[in-house]
Amino acid sequence: MTTIIYWFRNDLRLEDNPAFKEACRDATLLLPIYIHANYKDELTHWGFPRIANHAKAFLQASLKDLRSQLAAKGSTLLEFKGDAAEIMQVLRDQTQSGLVYCEQIEAPEELDQVTVIEGLGFKVKQFWQSSMLDPRDLPFDLKDMPDIFTRFRQDIEREGLSYALPIVAPEFIPPLPCLNQHEGQRESLLSKQSESPFVGGECSGLAHLSQYLDRRLPDTYKQTRNQLMGMDYSSKFSPWLSLGCLSPRVIADRLKNYELIHGANDGTYWLWFELLWRDYFRFLHFKYGRKLYQPKGLGKQQPNSFHEEQFYQWSSGLTGEDLIDAGMRELQQTGFLSNRMRQVLASYWIYDMKGDWRAGAAWFESQLIDYDVYSNQGNWLYITGGGTDPRGGRPFNVQKQTKDHDPDGVYRAMWLAK
Ligand SMILES: Cc1cc2nc3c(=O)[nH]c(=O)nc-3n(C[C@H](O)[C@H](O)[C@H](O)COP(=O)(O)OP(=O)(O)OC[C@H]3O[C@@H](n4cnc5c(N)ncnc54)[C@H](O)[C@@H]3O)c2cc1C
Repeated sequence: MTTIIYWFRNDLRLEDNPAFKEACRDATLLLPIYIHANYKDELTHWGFPRIANHAKAFLQASLKDLRSQLAAKGSTLLEFKGDAAEIMQVLRDQTQSGLVYCEQIEAPEELDQVTVIEGLGFKVKQFWQSSMLDPRDLPFDLKDMPDIFTRFRQDIEREGLSYALPIVAPEFIPPLPCLNQHEGQRESLLSKQSESPFVGGECSGLAHLSQYLDRRLPDTYKQTRNQLMGMDYSSKFSPWLSLGCLSPRVIADRLKNYELIHGANDGTYWLWFELLWRDYFRFLHFKYGRKLYQPKGLGKQQPNSFHEEQFYQWSSGLTGEDLIDAGMRELQQTGFLSNRMRQVLASYWIYDMKGDWRAGAAWFESQLIDYDVYSNQGNWLYITGGGTDPRGGRPFNVQKQTKDHDPDGVYRAMWLAK
């Protein structure tokens, strides 16, 4: 008899979840859990909450959806709040099992969680499953992956790699072990409201993907992707990707199918290309690991200093620079920003306001509904010049960006009026 604790992390789905499927295959009794880590409730080093309400509400809806999907197959999801290692110990006492299956996350805090749990004698079986490509298919060892994105992409394309095939959800979920009534919550531990248009969960993620493809939006993606306003200029897959409600392999597979029906075009290629950027920032973590989290990243330059007053102006949208203030207000009110605005806001903080990039990255972590440790860190390092980009930093000129992307002032008017 094998009892397995399945620890859902950023993989809140049943479809194309190899770790969960294997747990279902290997277990006689299976306990699906989610842990709200204490450290996520702490204030950041810069004095603001680590996670704001939009992301909490999105997480809450995602967990609710997962729980009802598990319930439909005779299981459930238990939510815990606290220190992961302490919770695991309580569960080991209850289930007599020290076997944990989970998604592998190659970022410092998540790696530390696993190290501590293993140190307590647990066997933790981790599965890498958050990328579109399977690292085992790559033509290079991840430790030697090309630093430059274009080289990375060319190597992938030369091999004819496009994505790893997704797998279907398990048909059968093993029954739950007996637990003390008081262990874990069978309903949400969060209760946050948000006016964000995004609703978390695998079901709404898959519905969003279907409507995006049904409306043929990939065809225009390349032309519209740098716009600032509306739901359709870019895919908006990122919120669901960030918590793993959607798998990038499912997206890539549906996109391939779309190409078979409607034909490939610039837009379908460019969507794949952007998903490859997402993989690239993930894979860099296997090569550089914690070095990416040093104050100077991989670069030579120490961060700028931090000035509270300036940070307040930037983060509250009170700099007096209309495009920046509009963007910051959009972020606070919706938890989302276009890629272009993220670039402009980050650049403005680092190069115009001479701010510490780590405070900016932490603010994005707090506010973004699609916060993803690899993509956020990777993009901030890219702009500040602490990553692998040979150009060493990407400043954006606000006047030019305003002229190019909001020539009529519609975006500024929309957010500055609120
Ligand atoms: C400073 C900064 C911080 C960022 N922080 C995050 C973050 O925390 N989480 C996050 O998911 N993305 C982040 N991005 C990347 C990008 O802005 C978002 O992925 C994108 O805007 C999400 O919208 P979309 O799903 O409509 O993207 P689309 O343009 O439709 O792209 C499709 C998918 O490709 C991936 N993608 C696109 N651009 C990038 C990119 N530059 N880097 C990595 N993946 C990309 C995303 O998964 C996205 O969902 C950041 C970018 C910058 C400049």
